[in-house]
Amino acid sequence: MQALVKKEARPGLWLERVPVPRIGINDVLIKVLRTGICGTDVHIYEWDAWAQKTIPVPMVVGHEFVGQIVEAGSNVTDFHIGDIVSGEGHVVCGRCRNCLAGRRHLCKDTKGVGVNRPGAFAEYLALPMTNVWVHDPHIPRDVQSIFDPFGNAVHTALQFDVLGEDILITGAGPIGVMAAAVVRHAGARHVVVTDVNPYRLELARKLGATLALDVREGSIPAAQERLGMKEGFDVGLEMSGNPAAFRDLLANMCHGGKIAMLGIPTQDIAIDWHTVVFNMLTIKGIYGREMYETWYKMTVMLQSGLDISPVITHRYAFEDFEKGFDAMRSGKSGKVVLTWNE
Ligand code: NAD
Ligand code: ZN
Repeated sequence: MQALVKKEARPGLWLERVPVPRIGINDVLIKVLRTGICGTDVHIYEWDAWAQKTIPVPMVVGHEFVGQIVEAGSNVTDFHIGDIVSGEGHVVCGRCRNCLAGRRHLCKDTKGVGVNRPGAFAEYLALPMTNVWVHDPHIPRDVQSIFDPFGNAVHTALQFDVLGEDILITGAGPIGVMAAAVVRHAGARHVVVTDVNPYRLELARKLGATLALDVREGSIPAAQERLGMKEGFDVGLEMSGNPAAFRDLLANMCHGGKIAMLGIPTQDIAIDWHTVVFNMLTIKGIYGREMYETWYKMTVMLQSGLDISPVITHRYAFEDFEKGFDAMRSGKSGKVVLTWNE
């Protein structure tokens, strides 16, 4: 089969012929239909410091996908040939304290599809049945292909009560703008999204931000004033990984405000701890998705009218993957989807 492989320890990805993966008795074999390109894949492509210490070479990369089950191991009874599925990209150990307690998103030994084990940028993918999510057939194929990052958005956005609350989202990347759509759907009042990229701020508006703010041109306190807000944001979602954005967020929360932090900073961030202490802020780190409560909520929100499809801005055949990665790097994209099979 053809697959995108991190073949050598240097920048680039290579379209290669590799063997179709073999499945164990607890696995399914999935014919990959479409995949989403994640920021992580760009890091692996560019071979940055994180990728160099994390990715064993060679490795088939990619973890956002939708596909069709074509083979099932002998222990698999709940999934069937022909099912249209996505997969949870975190494969957990199943034996640690948190796994045994059903808190699998807190596993101490998580392995990543397309990071620590062969990934989804391929014609076929083998996955443990514990990681399979069967889709509602009414959900559009492209949207099915990005359940993984949509799950990051939902997991973060629903971490705290948002009904009737004012929300500040720093970072209008694909995940930030999907989070804006989710909190609007869940009944938030003002949803302010910040970025320094006009293309992405426009995307935030399309997905339902009440105010999309370029922080190079306007301040968040001024935005609060414009909206008639007096006491700061109730909930903050950090989705940029940028130090200045995180400081902005802390400085604009109400007393007792709650912050869910998904963005991954590339360096240590010094913050004003007095604000955290005296304003009694809660800061919670968010990783991945809850298995499988987040997946359930994603499906139900789409069934009840949430539309995240405008986040997908580019589509290519897998042979044109370089164009997809170029679009990702350009800053003028939301999600980029590659088609592997119709
Ligand atoms: P992205 O890099 O596409 O988006 C980040 C956005 O932040 C960009 O549009 C950038 O212009 C913007 N930004 C830069 N400086 C800013 C500033 N000062 N103020 C406001 N915005 C600013 O990322 P994404 O794919 O949308 O993911 C969002 C973040 O979440 C990234 O940091 C990513 O690494 C992280 N992430 C975490 C997990 C997890 O499980 N914790 C999973 C996926 C992604
Ligand atoms: Zn575990």
